[in-house]
Amino acid sequence: MIAYDYLIVGSGLFGAVFAHEAHRHGKRCLVIEKRGHTGGNIYCQEVADIQVHLYGAHIFHTNNREVWDYVNRFVSFNRYTNSPLAYHHGKLYNLPFNMNTFYQLWGVHTPSQAQAKLEEQRGAYRHIEHPANLEEQALKLCGDDIYQRLIKGYTEKQWGRPATELPAFIIRRLPFRFTFDNNYFNALYQGIPAGGYNRLIDALLEGIEVRTDTDYFDDRAHWDTVAHKVLFTGCLDQYFHYEHGALDYRSLRFEHRHLTDTDNFQGNAVVNYTEREVPYTRIVEHKHFEFGTQPSTVITYEYPDNYSRGKEAYYPVNDEANNRLCARYKEMAAQLPDVLFGGRLAQYAYTDMDDAVASALKLWRSQT
Ligand code: FAD
Ligand code: UDP
Repeated sequence: MIAYDYLIVGSGLFGAVFAHEAHRHGKRCLVIEKRGHTGGNIYCQEVADIQVHLYGAHIFHTNNREVWDYVNRFVSFNRYTNSPLAYHHGKLYNLPFNMNTFYQLWGVHTPSQAQAKLEEQRGAYRHIEHPANLEEQALKLCGDDIYQRLIKGYTEKQWGRPATELPAFIIRRLPFRFTFDNNYFNALYQGIPAGGYNRLIDALLEGIEVRTDTDYFDDRAHWDTVAHKVLFTGCLDQYFHYEHGALDYRSLRFEHRHLTDTDNFQGNAVVNYTEREVPYTRIVEHKHFEFGTQPSTVITYEYPDNYSRGKEAYYPVNDEANNRLCARYKEMAAQLPDVLFGGRLAQYAYTDMDDAVASALKLWRSQT
């Protein structure tokens, strides 16, 4: 007997929103999750009264009023505004590139001075008409100072390749802001859920049957029989047995440290390390997401890592070859009317949390 209307594979934000909507509309749902906890990459672990973002810093930001109202129904958000710093050879620079950054780089005080300096920096690369790689593209957009200090090392670490071997399309555009404004995200709404992201996930999954430590692929034949429909939010290529080949990803490695000898390690939630020689890309100090006053602190070193099967697939590598391969898998997916595919892994796309919520709501509406 088929016991459920929907089997939802994966309890990340996408799966949780879809499950919530289906359950609310009277559908019988079962969520299975291969990790030992729900929430996917937004999961937080409480350490010394601090919400630690175990899988990387997560700041909710959106221009979508419907999505903002939706998540606020489950949890309240604080007023956190992301304003990361970049560390390079002993100096700190504000991000995103704005008047504070230009002042720190060149000592310029006004927008017109900053524009003139930027034009001068770009001047040396004006002859590049069709940038052949990321390095040429970046130099054409911002010149040497910004590229060498704030982009090159970070990007090469992140993607594991020299910038001259990375495609130009990764940075077709570099936003420059000619105001003294360190708000990283240009979003109308921004914040961190009070008490951490687990509250959001727990509220979404309330009343729904969830089995953690349960990998769909360990008993696929069984799981395919328990529900009328499956929502799959895992890796698309794995679903199709890597039939046409494996999709590429970048992975990450996180090193978490609880420091008991200080209550404030770096004075900011996120500091990027833009030198190639420093092996990590950033240090996150979690308490600052919630303006914490705890007596100790927890920091996380984030190291980019090559991906191989068994590791977490954090970033899709959306170059032409992978996008072509992904399109073939998506054609196969479209042939399966009783299997829905959603979320960042099944879409093979970098999606922010607000995209995950919006597209899960859209998918649910397509079912009704
Ligand atoms: P996931 O969270 O990955 O959930 C998928 C779930 O499916 C996982 O729990 C996984 O274990 C499970 N699963 C997979 N395969 C199986 C299987 N075979 N059987 C059972 N379960 C399975 N977004 C923002 O808006 N702001 C940010 O600041 C931000 N920072 C980020 C930082 C990093 C380092 C990364 C990697 C992402 C960041 N994001 C951010 C994006 C955000 O993480 C995603 O938008 C969101 O987590 C997507 O949710 P999801 O459900 O699609 O995927
Ligand atoms: N980036 C950079 N220097 C920085 C931060 C980011 O050059 O200090 C570039 C880098 O290529 C990176 C991209 O911008 O891959 C996006 O970085 P961001 O931190 O905005 O996104 P995330 O890695 O968190 O998804």
